[in-house]
Amino acid sequence: MKKTFIVEMVLLGLLAIAATPFMRGTSDALEIPADLILTSGRIWTAEAAQPWAEAVVIRGNRIIYVGPSTGVLPFQGQKTERIDLGGRLVVPGFNDAHIHLMAGALSLEQVDLIEAQSVEAVQGLIRDFTAANPNSSWVLGRGWLYGSFPGGLPVKEQLDAVVSERPAYMECYDGHSGWANSKALTIAGITKDMQDPVNGVIVRDPATGEPTGALKEEATALVTSKIPVPDDEARYQLLLRALHLLNSFGITSVQDAGYSNRDLKSELPLFERAKREGRLTVRLTAAVQMTQQDFASAIAEAKRLRDIHHDALLRFGTIKGFVDGVIEAHTAAMLEPYADDASFGLGMPNWEPAILNEALVAADKAGLQVYLHAIGDRGVCMALDAHEATIKANGSRDRRGRIEHIETISVADYPRFKDRGVIASMQPLHANPDQNTFNVWARNAGPERASRGFSWRNLETAEARLVFGSDWPVVTANVFRGLYCAITRKTKEGTPADGWNPELAVSIENALRHYTIDATYASFEENEKGSIMVGKLADLVVLSDDLFSVAPKKILQTRALLAVMDGRVVYRDAKW
Ligand SMILES: [Zn+2]
Repeated sequence: MKKTFIVEMVLLGLLAIAATPFMRGTSDALEIPADLILTSGRIWTAEAAQPWAEAVVIRGNRIIYVGPSTGVLPFQGQKTERIDLGGRLVVPGFNDAHIHLMAGALSLEQVDLIEAQSVEAVQGLIRDFTAANPNSSWVLGRGWLYGSFPGGLPVKEQLDAVVSERPAYMECYDGHSGWANSKALTIAGITKDMQDPVNGVIVRDPATGEPTGALKEEATALVTSKIPVPDDEARYQLLLRALHLLNSFGITSVQDAGYSNRDLKSELPLFERAKREGRLTVRLTAAVQMTQQDFASAIAEAKRLRDIHHDALLRFGTIKGFVDGVIEAHTAAMLEPYADDASFGLGMPNWEPAILNEALVAADKAGLQVYLHAIGDRGVCMALDAHEATIKANGSRDRRGRIEHIETISVADYPRFKDRGVIASMQPLHANPDQNTFNVWARNAGPERASRGFSWRNLETAEARLVFGSDWPVVTANVFRGLYCAITRKTKEGTPADGWNPELAVSIENALRHYTIDATYASFEENEKGSIMVGKLADLVVLSDDLFSVAPKKILQTRALLAVMDGRVVYRDAKW
């Protein structure tokens, strides 16, 4: 990286002539120099009218020029920083359209199990973490995969074997199941005699009725509600670490899939503090979560917060509901019975369809945008029905209803996304074709439904608005891992050799659009950010490799060299 502080102000008059049609306010430029000039790059703008450029100029928090390198000199002043990109690729700052920011932040202090593919590997990681953290009152972790355990679910004995003196709780990678040791079950009061909570299952030994240690959906709260939460200062420091990590992946915006009313009371002050202190280096849109039981109060809270926070850094105004669970735990709502075990029937929707429709109509009346988690094909159908009921009840408007995940889908439902203006919000790494996907997900879904698993390409063909995200901490927030999976449908080890249902992969350009301008559309901000265009907010990222020309495998090693958010350099690779 080269930095040049330009002092030849005398050249300005001459070079102003080189101004291009993409520049705005040349005379203005002469009076107030730019803050940052990037030249000699390969700038992918995400704008159809001018997809490529060499240079971009930033003043304050806005982009003021996009065009040839020869056109930048009118903007240079004594304090302007100029960076010669040396042909590097620049793209708009990534926008992760589905993330769980505080869960991700808290996960930074827990044992990460996502790469462990066997019981022994999982236990080894927990044993080492326990030894390295002798003073924590609980041993916490997340990321275990169903496929790592015989039968698809862990049992308490496997956890007791490595942590017996302290309570231990490990969240499944998808957040929909949990695994407790005997101490944690005792603290939570979970015994043979305890009834299952609403929308939850305490998994029991079929012979004895004893809890096995595995918990599904709302039953996880029986344990998680007993885990001491780090204090405000500790959580704030974790939030700052999380923001830095996201910036290091080139992420400058996230759309947080939400908080319960209760969680918001403790987490919102952290976001407000970060904003006040100028340390909110990732733009944050956050949803309020609703359930069938509390949707009226959740809608009221989302509306109240929208009136307080609605700027380009911190925004509310969205509400999220979970239509169903997940396929691995047989809790996703399916149109036909589960393929591996018909006794699970059609899964476990969390809402009565009529009440779901009523909640959406009410949220829409309040002017809120609605996200619906829906993973089973019946769940997706219910979510589409609910968005449709909203249009019927409240008439047409630009409401941009969303469905999150869409892991399976009925063929009849592809066109409904475009027809109803519903956004498909999907996470490429959820399709990571590892043994968990094949041995558990595909086994449960069965081959027919699996053939349409994570149907990105089919949704593009049906002209659905498709947006990408990570669901961090469910999987890594590393956008480059997501991009690689989106275009190859292979694991990072390169399996299967031809990709899993490779016809459902997308092009690199489309994948980038889904992580940038399309994701920005999903929060109604496409006129403000999401592409590199004069007048837009200055959010962009310089990458180590040219994603358009390198071999797909190389994308896994791609790094952000520089991330700019709101005109500020928020991340710089130390080695560049
Ligand atoms: Zn999520």
